Amino acid sequence: LGMPSVPSLLAERRRSRQIQVGSVAVGGDAPVSVQSMTTTVTADVNATLRQIAELTAAGCQIVRVACPSQDDADALPVIAKKSQIPVIADIHFQPKYVFAAIDAGCAAVRVNPGNIRQFDDKVKEIAKAASGAGVPIRIGVNAGSLDRRLLEKYGRATPEALVESALWECSLFEEHGFRDIKISVKHNDPVVMVNAYRLLAARCDYPLHLGVTEAGPAFQGTIKSAVAFGALLAEGIGDTIRVSLSAPPAEEVKVGIQILESLNLRQRRLEIVSCPSCGRAQVDVYKLADQVTAGLEGMEVPLRVAVMGCVVNGPGEAREADLGVASGNGKGQIFVKGEVIKTVPESKIVETLIEEAMKIAEQMEADAEKDGRSL
Ligand code: SF4
Repeated sequence: LGMPSVPSLLAERRRSRQIQVGSVAVGGDAPVSVQSMTTTVTADVNATLRQIAELTAAGCQIVRVACPSQDDADALPVIAKKSQIPVIADIHFQPKYVFAAIDAGCAAVRVNPGNIRQFDDKVKEIAKAASGAGVPIRIGVNAGSLDRRLLEKYGRATPEALVESALWECSLFEEHGFRDIKISVKHNDPVVMVNAYRLLAARCDYPLHLGVTEAGPAFQGTIKSAVAFGALLAEGIGDTIRVSLSAPPAEEVKVGIQILESLNLRQRRLEIVSCPSCGRAQVDVYKLADQVTAGLEGMEVPLRVAVMGCVVNGPGEAREADLGVASGNGKGQIFVKGEVIKTVPESKIVETLIEEAMKIAEQMEADAEKDGRSL
């Protein structure tokens, strides 16, 4: 119920090594996880924990916090302890904070090869500390901060340059027997990014963290990320994702979850099937769809709700859904599982759909409980 029976779009998943980021497995056969990053000053422990709680409520599974100063490093133990989801410390420039993050109980550490000066000398110690604590390292290469040597070699941040940077960094850790690694090679151009990840996927078996960096404001960033992640995930590439938006991080999480649901990499939850409206519409479809979406927000069950503007395609789509409305002549025909259960005046459509959705959700939950399934 709720899941459309369409053929899968997905190629066989790339076989990656599995690593453990705190309680969340990444890679192998683990479900693709959704990450985000806090925007607060990490040293402001209360604000950071508040934002982590918001992200957790939105469905975020792993959270990253920046650690640019000693004050931030000092805040990590409390944040790592109190966060409900694994915390990754994001370290640029200063290897000493890597040790602080490991000691603080962070679930993983992200380092940027282009930005860690004197890093090469410290790899042995970092590998030792990380493996001792069971903390994986993300090698996070970013087009904007590519190692100068590689920029000179390739002229710009090409896919080959990004991949070479990441694999070179991995080799430094591998020399010390450390392979508890995941990798990202981010670029703001989805085409370059997709090519970089394809190349990387073919050249190693590390789990991959997908990201289009600096993807832009919500609208543009959502589209860039959806296109790039969609292409890669459909090819079986990608083990964890982070959507980067110039918008509150909870929005990134919503977009990430929606991308996974759209590919059926996650069970779909609420899905509104609404028509674009046209000259035949006999109701304000945009308003109706917005009101129904707002009224059902947060619903956890996989419910497909059709909101259709007229009786041409309306009844057909409404019948295919768990619940639907086809509008016409100032009225709405309400369908539940293919049957018209009632016809209500236009002013009652939204509340009737919400009422019926609640009933179906309760029934789904009761059925699932009876069968010992989770929804
Ligand atoms: Fe137009 Fe009706 Fe189709 Fe909506 S359902 S797009 S109103 S024909």
